[in-house]
Amino acid sequence: MTMPAVLVPADQPLTLANVSPGRPQKRLAFAVALAFLAALVLSAGELSNIQLRRIDPFVPIYGTAIFVNDLITAVLLFNQFAVLRSRALLAISSGYFFTALMVIPWMLTFPGVFAPTGLLGAGLQSTNWLYVLRYAAFPTFVIAYTLLKDADPAERLWKGSAGPAVLSCVAISAAVVCVVTIIVTAGDAYLPRISIDPVHFSALWLYLASCLIAWNSLALILLWRRQRSVLDLWLMVVVSAYAIEIYLVSFPGLARFSAGWYAGRVFGFVSSILVLFVLLGEITTLYAQLLSAVLAQRREREARLMTGDAVSASIAHEIKQPLTAIIASANAGLSWLDHVEPDLDNVRNALRRVVTSGRSADVIIENIRTHFKVGARIRTSLDIGDVIRDALAVVRDKLQAHRIVVTVDLDEHLPRLRGEPVQLQQVLVNLIANAIDAMASKNGERVLSIRSELDHSGDVMVTMEDTGKGIEPGATNRIFNPMFTTKAHGMGMGLSICRSIVEAHEGQLWVSASERGGAVFRFTVPVDPLVS
Ligand code: ADP
Repeated sequence: MTMPAVLVPADQPLTLANVSPGRPQKRLAFAVALAFLAALVLSAGELSNIQLRRIDPFVPIYGTAIFVNDLITAVLLFNQFAVLRSRALLAISSGYFFTALMVIPWMLTFPGVFAPTGLLGAGLQSTNWLYVLRYAAFPTFVIAYTLLKDADPAERLWKGSAGPAVLSCVAISAAVVCVVTIIVTAGDAYLPRISIDPVHFSALWLYLASCLIAWNSLALILLWRRQRSVLDLWLMVVVSAYAIEIYLVSFPGLARFSAGWYAGRVFGFVSSILVLFVLLGEITTLYAQLLSAVLAQRREREARLMTGDAVSASIAHEIKQPLTAIIASANAGLSWLDHVEPDLDNVRNALRRVVTSGRSADVIIENIRTHFKVGARIRTSLDIGDVIRDALAVVRDKLQAHRIVVTVDLDEHLPRLRGEPVQLQQVLVNLIANAIDAMASKNGERVLSIRSELDHSGDVMVTMEDTGKGIEPGATNRIFNPMFTTKAHGMGMGLSICRSIVEAHEGQLWVSASERGGAVFRFTVPVDPLVS
């Protein structure tokens, strides 16, 4: 069933009783009503006068089906009342419950089903009067529903708790059904005669049936005038089907077990099952929507957590480098001071390096913030050679500590780029730090070659080749995923940050195997369009 257009205040739950029907719903209801009319025309013809045989199990089967349908519908509607607390819903749910219960004495008193004139000591008239009361009650509840729906907003909602309200309605309905059954069956002899014999009706029946049809029509008109919800729409179809049923059961043959009488029962069954079907359809749709909303919410939360994780991990990752440098420089300064004759020049240099690294940490934090803040990036014109030299200066100590030979081959005539120098420097520092780790974990020659050149498409390309352990085949794509690491204390954020920085500069970063056994990282950045 297609979801109707929703015209419900945001704080109200979506239910059949307060969701407006969409165009597909209206079309479907119209089609069902048309099908009813067509069936009416077909079944009200000459054929409906034909008197058929009495099928003994028909009434109990029909009655049980109606009882079960109406009861389930009542339970579902009582549930909707518990959610929305609308008095109107309480009225219609009670209506369904009442009509469900009324089926029981109707079945039991039906002549010839359980006893020749019915159980409960009934005579011939009881069944008919129970039928009349049942078919008068349902439109009455529908009318109450429409009037309560439009009641003063202060009175529209049930103020107390739902449980006692539902229980009271159930108890009152059951009591009324019992009392009505007792009165009707006990007073059978005094009731105006609707049945002449177990099969044929009197002319009074035509009069009563006309009143019932008129009563159902009034309910239909009120629903039509006030229709707002999916429930209103389908109740309209239901009361139409009720009216058709009463017509077919009474007019064409004026007798039980005529073809028209059987056809009327089919209408009765269909009308009883309609709202139940729509309720079940709506509940399934709403459930599916709820499920997808919950899943979407969960995904969104996970994404947010991922971003949170990514931000904190990247801050930790990026800040570690300058912090290590600050500690190393400060230690170096202290050890120069501890000399018998403190070497103040070296101390000064160490302190300068502390200041530089401190500033670099400050800039990194600022950059991470701007990196995660969309649309707040400041780009300048820069020379990639300068960025490479600055990056090498940052990791110089570490390179020396691991006795790594660095070969630099920079094309000094490269066009300038447009970008964020600190971010690009971070890319280089990360790549160099990874190369150092890869070479530190392996014996043999340790050479880091850095080259800058123009690639075939006119972008500036930086190549960094090491003689480390290389990338495992099959991991060349995964190493760029956040949190992917093969190191005991790695965070797996470096390469993912590098790639996102390069891509934010409209470039690309990739890795391949080096002929010397290590890894070759390459990245490109387009040249500055303003100066090229
Ligand atoms: P981390 O350094 O914290 O592990 P990275 O994202 O920087 O995170 O790197 C992810 C993984 O990629 C590393 O754990 C390592 O296995 C691999 N890797 C990165 N650079 C190199 C390299 N130059 N040589 C070999 N493996 C590398």
